[in-house]
Amino acid sequence: MPIRLLAAALTLVVLAGCGTRAAASGFHDGRLNVVTAFYPLEFLSERIGGPQVHVTDLTKPGAEPHDVELNPRQVGTIADAGLVAYLRGFQPAVDDAVAQEAKGRALDAGRVVPLLPLADGTDGKPEPGADHPETTGSGMDPHVWLDPVRFATIADQIGRRLGLADPAHAADYTARAGQMHAELTALNTEMAAGLRQCTRHEIVTSHSAFNYLATRYGLTQVGITGISPEAEPSPRRMGKIAQLARADGTTTIFFETLVSPKVAETVAREVGARTAVLDPLEGLTKPGADYFSVMRDNLAALRSALGCS
Ligand SMILES: [Zn+2]
Repeated sequence: MPIRLLAAALTLVVLAGCGTRAAASGFHDGRLNVVTAFYPLEFLSERIGGPQVHVTDLTKPGAEPHDVELNPRQVGTIADAGLVAYLRGFQPAVDDAVAQEAKGRALDAGRVVPLLPLADGTDGKPEPGADHPETTGSGMDPHVWLDPVRFATIADQIGRRLGLADPAHAADYTARAGQMHAELTALNTEMAAGLRQCTRHEIVTSHSAFNYLATRYGLTQVGITGISPEAEPSPRRMGKIAQLARADGTTTIFFETLVSPKVAETVAREVGARTAVLDPLEGLTKPGADYFSVMRDNLAALRSALGCS
């Protein structure tokens, strides 16, 4: 094509672009728009996307992602995204928006790694009135990011999908995904070594988020379900937890950061244990922290509670 005609054709394309919604391109100011559903996916997208992407996370810092609600502006960011990273079944509002606004531009993190079935509560089912149903809707456990090995596979897939959405920078995305995969592999090696020889093997926790971590490192999660900041667990539940905790010689009851310490202390007193925090990484609670620093804090808390050498 002669240069002048080519230039004219390019002008037409640019003009056409101005008249259509940004959704047609998925880019803004030369950067790929990436929308993530909650913190661990935001972390991967930021690190792998680097300066070539603009990441918008749908869960506000410190908020509980399970029951996120989306405002019209957030639904708009999904419509304008070049890539949406989410986990289908974890956040129904996000599922609906993705189905309506982001067909073909979404990566379901639960589709690229094998999910574990829900293992919730001491008797396998949540207490009635539990405020926090830990389910993907399909009966699968959503907390997959707490297994560094599965999370590394999700990193690979985010790198691949960024490259498909923005082929001009595919090599950069692949390189950074490879770097992230290596860092996660190193974390897995560190955690496996740190949890290899422990006196105890049961993690008693208020938030049944740690089954992927427990399964990876040969531990067992005992979930105290039915705990909300307002309600104490029923006497029946407390009795069961106490019985299990005593049988394993548990010294520590784990609680996540947002649960009332009063409830934590009540349960711990009942079983004669102390309390400590395990962070499910559904959002960051400490400034300056990131996925790796929180996972290493979790490792230290587990090693202390389980008597690991
Ligand atoms: Zn959770």
